Parts: sequence; C-alpha cells; structure tokens
Amino acid sequence: THFNIDPVKENYVRRVTGCVFSRVTPTHLKSEMQLVSVSQDVLENVLDLDPREEKNPSFANFLAGNQLLPGSEPLAHRYGGYQFGYWAGQLGDGRAITIGEYVNSKGNRWELQLKGAGKTPYSRNGDGRAVLRSSIREFLCSEAMDALGIPTSRAAAVVVSKDMVVRDQFYNGRMKYEPAAVVLRLAPTWFRIGSLEILAKEQEKLNLKKVVDFTIEHYMPAGEKENYVKFFETVVEQSSALVAKWMAHGFTHGVLNTDNMSLLSITIDYGPFGFLDSYNPSFVPNHSDDEGRYSYLNQPKIFKWNLACLAEALQPLLSAEEQEQTAAIINRFDEIYQEHFMSIFRQKLGLSRPAKDEVRLIQLLLDTMQQRGADFTQTFRQLGDIHLDNIELNEEHWALHSVSTHRRFSEFISLYQASLKETETTEEERQRIMNSVNPRYVLRNWMAESAIRQAEKGDFHLTNLLLKVLRKPYEKDDEAEALGFSKPPPDWACSLRVSCSS
Ligand code: AMP
Ligand code: MG
Ligand code: MG
Repeated sequence: THFNIDPVKENYVRRVTGCVFSRVTPTHLKSEMQLVSVSQDVLENVLDLDPREEKNPSFANFLAGNQLLPGSEPLAHRYGGYQFGYWAGQLGDGRAITIGEYVNSKGNRWELQLKGAGKTPYSRNGDGRAVLRSSIREFLCSEAMDALGIPTSRAAAVVVSKDMVVRDQFYNGRMKYEPAAVVLRLAPTWFRIGSLEILAKEQEKLNLKKVVDFTIEHYMPAGEKENYVKFFETVVEQSSALVAKWMAHGFTHGVLNTDNMSLLSITIDYGPFGFLDSYNPSFVPNHSDDEGRYSYLNQPKIFKWNLACLAEALQPLLSAEEQEQTAAIINRFDEIYQEHFMSIFRQKLGLSRPAKDEVRLIQLLLDTMQQRGADFTQTFRQLGDIHLDNIELNEEHWALHSVSTHRRFSEFISLYQASLKETETTEEERQRIMNSVNPRYVLRNWMAESAIRQAEKGDFHLTNLLLKVLRKPYEKDDEAEALGFSKPPPDWACSLRVSCSS
C-alpha cells in the first residue's frame, strides 16, 4: 500500500490516529466450512481463475481467511462518517479485511476484502463477524445489481461455518445464535466519503491529500491530477447517475450514511436494502430508520447532502475560489440528477429520444401506479409486453391490470402514444428498448428470505438459483416462473422486516 501503515501487529479495538490503514490478521473460522455459492462471472472475468477452482478444497479455507496468499498483507481501513445526519467519529473496517489488490488480465485493479473475517482495531463493540443471512443478501444483491448494469462492488463467494455468533434478534424469547459466514467481496477501491472525512476532521491534511491523489491517479479520468474541483465534479456527476439508476430499479439502499457512499460512485455496503414491490415512494427497508431518512424517495436528496459533506472534507485542499466552485457544483445537483433520471425513465418507457411532454408522461404513470399500489418492476415490464394500439390484458399482466382500471389510464395512453409518434418510435423499437432496461426479476425481500431460510438448514439450492436468475434478469427462467418470481409477492412477504443487525 501507498500509505503510512500503523505498525501494530495485533488486533485490538481502539481509537487510531495518523494513518489510513492498520495491519490486521484475519481470525480463523474454527469449525467445518461449506461453500454456499460462487459467482462464476467474478471467478472467471474478474479474478482470471479457472471456474473449477471452486472445487479446490483450499478455496473455502482461503475465503474464510484461514489461508492467506503469499505476499498478502491484510489491512483494515480507518474511516469515519455521518450516520443518520450526525458526525459519528471513527468507524472503519470493523469486520471487513482487505487481503490485497489484484490487477487482472484486462488491466483492471481490484481490492479484495473478506467481510466477516474477525475483529480489527475498528470493531468497536462488534465481534468482527457477519451472519449467513446478511452475507447471502450482500452476495446476491451485488451480483444482481451488476447484471442490471448498476455500478457496484462485486462478490466472489460466500462460505459458512459452524462457528456461532449471537445477534440481538430475539427468537422465541431467547437470543438467537447464528452461523458465521464470510463474503469475498471486491471493488476497484473501497474508499468512501468517510475515508476523507476522518482525515479532514482530525486535521491530517497530508494523509488527506495522499488518499485523494491516489484515488484520482488510479480511478479518475486522465487530467484530474491535483485538480480537486474536477475530482469533486466527477464524483457528483457519477453519483447522480448512480442514484438515478437506483431509482429506476426501485432499489433502496437503506443506510446511506457517508461511510457507506463510495468515492467511485459504486453501490457498496449492502445491509438492510430493499427493492420496491408495490410503488410506494416512502418505502423504508431498514426498520430501525424510524424517521424514514433513507426512504426510496429521499435518496437523491441524501446523495446531495452526502456530497456536500464530501465538499467539506475536501475543503483543506481547496483555495477560497475552489470552495466557491464546489459550492456551485452542489447547487447544480438537482439539475444534473434530473437529466440522468429522465434519460433512464425515458428508456423505461421505450422512447427513442426526448419528447416534449416526457416529464408529465412519467409523472402521470408514477402517480397512477402509486394510487393503485401497482408493482413497480412488473408494471414497466408488462407495459413493454403489450401492444399499445390493441391493449389486451390477461392474467400475465397482473400489475398493469391494476393501473389500467385507474380513471387517468386512458389519458396516460394517449399522451404515451403522442410521445412515441413525436419521437418516431415504432412499436417494435419501444418493446425492444423497454425489455432491455426493465428486468423481469429483481431480488425482492421475500425471495432473499426464502433462500436464507433454506440455507440456514444447509440447503443452498435457492441461493444458487437466485444467483443464476438474477445474473440474467431480463430472461424468463422456468424454475423462477414456477416459484412465482414474476408474480405478486406472497402474503407473508408483507410482514418481512430487515434490520441493521447483521
Ligand atoms: P454498516 O452500517 O454495516 O455500514 O457498519 C457501520 C460500522 O459498523 C462499520 O464501521 C462496520 O465495520 C461496523 N460493524 C458492523 N457490524 C460489525 C461487527 N459485527 N463487528 C465489528 N464491526 C461491525
Ligand atoms: Mg458500512
Ligand atoms: Mg456493514
């Protein structure tokens, strides 16, 4: 690594100053390990590994942190963050351990982390572990988001052991013990807004500059060296594109603290996230988020708030004039976001180019969907499956059916047809565009929960099926259909809640 490394060899929890990483040693999983699932795409196309590598008995050992590769110097990263609007001070990698970087055959640099590999100096009150349910959720969602074309960290595999950890979930009146799991996850870099914030707050300007320079040098378009305004502008641009994609797929992160927001504008730190079922803009997946700060609809606003925190963290590196420039960029956020939002929702409706009433058109559809509680994913998908000039709905169009009974549906269809005519979009082209951007399958909570319940009993079939289906989210899969993955969620799904305890 390019930074000052804290020379501490042992893991112990403490406040750390004057560095960016601390050396750590993964804590071994003691009992028998099982490979839950492997992403073949990551193995082959990111790590340049032979797909048969997963059959190698030392693979699970490696995933568990029990066997390090030669030359690996495991590290935990020091960062801080604003949590739910308040400065939380030092956070850091409390259970994720970086085991090294790999530059692959395509020349892409990836930082490998084992999440759940034991305590670090940043573990605070935590045990450094992750449970199977949250590991399966992170694994599946990373790979699903990537397949949807949404910038994200990746996940190579999950292992589970018989080592038990305790979480604050009560189960029949008793504390629940759960098996510990580890995810091997990857990102070009795991630096977050909080990585810079801690250095700015603690007035460690030299390290602040080093981290920003490193990030620019390795990950930003050429020509940004020491141009911190340009760097900031790039992050604002890429982040607004990211959040527009989340909105277009009904993805709600759940814990959008500044420590969970990547400097590379990729989706990171999957916790109590959720995809919209029925279209309810105030959807809050994290049930400890009482005030709904991180609701679906608030996400663009929160991005803007977090980006203002980033500007503040960069302040020690900026001249007075540059500070004004970053402020001006923040002020343009709504405009930049709106452009990304329109460009993607236009595609969701299959328009080949901008139409004059497109804003009203999209809003009309969303309002109707909201009033009907129509399924977000399936309404768009089904709209791309029908013929607009001769609308015939059958039971396959269950989501669209609820919208079609709304009194403003015919107004929507007329405006839609006028916009298609204006943009010279043929019916064939409309369907093609829509079916390439509106997925048939997303990782709904009930689907993840079904896979988790089965995996907790030692059966990983559903987890692997979900991986397969979600890697090709636009293609119909017979087993997925038989299990109702494109049907309304089952009744029991309504009572599902996810928490931060993971
Ligand atoms: P999160 O909300 O998952 O992004 O985590 C916020 C902070 O809590 C990060 O610093 C994590 O590393 C830390 N953390 C979460 N769970 C644990 C755990 N079981 N052990 C140690 N640290 C944890
Ligand atoms: Mg986090
Ligand atoms: Mg976490």
